[in-house]
Amino acid sequence: MDILKILSRGTKKSAGQPTTPKPIAKPTNPQLYNDPTRGVKRKRNEESVSNLDADDDTEINFFAPPKAKKPSPEPETRETRETPKENASKPVLDEEEVRQILRSHRLKFTLLSSHEDKRTKVKKSKKKKKEDKAKAKAKDAKKQLSPQPLTSFSELRSTYNISTRLGDNLVKQGYRIPTEVQLGSLPLLIQPDRAIPSSVVEELNFKTNDGIDFLAVAPTGSGKTLAFLIPAINTILRRRAGDAAQKEHILEVVVVAPTRELAHQIVNEGRKLAQGTGVKIVGMKKGMQIPTEGQPEGDSSDEEGSESEQEAESSDDNAEDGKPRKVGPTTKTDILITTPMLLRNYLKSRTLPTVKSLILDEADVLLDPLFREQTLGIWSACTNQSLRLTCWSATMGSNVEGLILEQLKSRGPSQSAIPLVRLVVGLKDTAVPSINHKLIYTATEQGKLFALRQLLHPKASDDSMPKMRLPFLVFTQSIERATALHDELKFDIAAEAGGSSRIAALHSSLSDSARSNIVARFRAGEIWVLITTDLLMRGIDFRGVNGVINYDIPTSAAAYVHRVGRTGRAGHEGGVAVTFYTTEDVAHLKSIANVIALSEKQAGKSSEEGVPKWLMDSLPKVGKEEKKKLKQRGVESRRGDKAKITTKSAWERRKENNKRGAIAGSKKRKIQEATIDTQGGDDGEWSGIDD
Ligand code: ADP
Ligand code: MG
Repeated sequence: MDILKILSRGTKKSAGQPTTPKPIAKPTNPQLYNDPTRGVKRKRNEESVSNLDADDDTEINFFAPPKAKKPSPEPETRETRETPKENASKPVLDEEEVRQILRSHRLKFTLLSSHEDKRTKVKKSKKKKKEDKAKAKAKDAKKQLSPQPLTSFSELRSTYNISTRLGDNLVKQGYRIPTEVQLGSLPLLIQPDRAIPSSVVEELNFKTNDGIDFLAVAPTGSGKTLAFLIPAINTILRRRAGDAAQKEHILEVVVVAPTRELAHQIVNEGRKLAQGTGVKIVGMKKGMQIPTEGQPEGDSSDEEGSESEQEAESSDDNAEDGKPRKVGPTTKTDILITTPMLLRNYLKSRTLPTVKSLILDEADVLLDPLFREQTLGIWSACTNQSLRLTCWSATMGSNVEGLILEQLKSRGPSQSAIPLVRLVVGLKDTAVPSINHKLIYTATEQGKLFALRQLLHPKASDDSMPKMRLPFLVFTQSIERATALHDELKFDIAAEAGGSSRIAALHSSLSDSARSNIVARFRAGEIWVLITTDLLMRGIDFRGVNGVINYDIPTSAAAYVHRVGRTGRAGHEGGVAVTFYTTEDVAHLKSIANVIALSEKQAGKSSEEGVPKWLMDSLPKVGKEEKKKLKQRGVESRRGDKAKITTKSAWERRKENNKRGAIAGSKKRKIQEATIDTQGGDDGEWSGIDD
């Protein structure tokens, strides 16, 4: 059965109409950038930076996890040939080679910590003004670091001494070529004193043998999860390799992610990597007891705002009647993965003294006002002096970086020698190069519905619309609009093709089980169109999403990057991102148009592919205040009553409503006539016209 034929309500197969809903192109290499012209000839590990070993899969199950492949003989022979001890002190690549690789993969490392500034200040006071300037300039240049990159996954074992089992699990999961964020961050996080030359460490006056604090800004779908999970699992394994007492499960790593869906995804990924290693990874649940110090003081459930899309979790210590809930046994774990709300509500005034690594995934959301209080609360509960922080996202505003620096400083003098290093992959805050962007003017809200239906039921004769393949995601400004759009669209797919079961709306107002059910059905390919909101989709990895439709414009440039980043993951080519805009949206469009233009420039595409020059020139600048308001409230004309989505005109709706009202009134009258009504009639329940 050709489901798209049914879906497009056509009987004849038309030219230009997609035949099967499978990915447009298969990924050949998960790396986004490898431009040899940015570096010169170098010794290369053939496994690391070439496409030669990319498998030629003939049938792709685009919802499946990465296909397990037979371990290639190459890593094994390398591992047996090169034992870690043999080359323990040997630098892997010389300085020039390192620079070339970093340039070619567009990796930029910057030292952000402030202890370096202190040195500058001392020197400044002793020198003349002119010399000062030259010194400051030279120092600025020094702030760029060139740590050793990872040239292949097998190097994790041979050079960085990770456990054989962990290395094998990577191979078993089918990971063969490290992505940019992985090749840049893994050496630095696993063995910073090896990745950064000792001469640089001395010169900049910091310590690396206690680990580093780290911020990674890397594109959506570029493998950040592995980049933080491998070092996390490895740290636990190193401890457990010691004497018997060290074999206990000690909570050493906490990963915080903004939604339950993302936390769940990280748990799954982590468990696959940790298989057979003895490392325990647990997802935080309501009512779960974890090893902490101190006692909770009273109930702090009302300190948590439950505005907008925030996760609705309740405190787990006291049952609703105020009596303490029966406390179960403590869950022993090495790595805990949680949403900020779940852990914060559990902790209250308890601390987590054993935690040595705090990982913030989608850190800019976690440090946004919506989650800031909970996230900072968890951070300050991690009282261990050796705590190291790593933050991960595809977008990171300078205000977030500032907040992190400030918090780090406030942790006391022991922190001052620990470097905070930032890695940026590609241009900051841009979309992945493999996505095709389209801005479509629909004039009115109704125009959007017509346009969406055209994308759902493409006609061969219509060239004005991009060709989109299922499955795709549709983003709306609010939960209310997601529900309204779902109501409007649910009968658009023919019953023979699965009808309304093929379309779903996913948002945080649904129950836990409804949410998991929808995610599972989308992953299984049963749902083809998923209508959703920004927060719920942050970080979610659905393999093979072919398109993203911004039914309502995103309310910030960062939101655009994250929404469209649900397609084009792990190097998949051919994802399409369509953004509808109305006359009201024109005033807010410039920041999005800028992201598109910059992303296309980075991808080496013609400057006018996504946004024609005339449009770019004519779009008004968006002021700071306006941006802030848009981010907080969305487009005003889609709020409240105007959140409704329908193809019917106001006049038609009014007519329908009047008719419904008349029928209801007549029914009511009949009932009333048949009943002895002691209250004296209609109290006016029907409120009439709805707009
Ligand atoms: P991010 O967090 O950067 O948005 P994820 O960690 O969710 O990205 O990874 C996106 C997808 O890429 C996942 O399906 C993951 O399995 C896959 N992936 C990660 N690293 C690699 C790799 N080295 N090779 C191939 N696929 C990878
Ligand atoms: Mg992620």
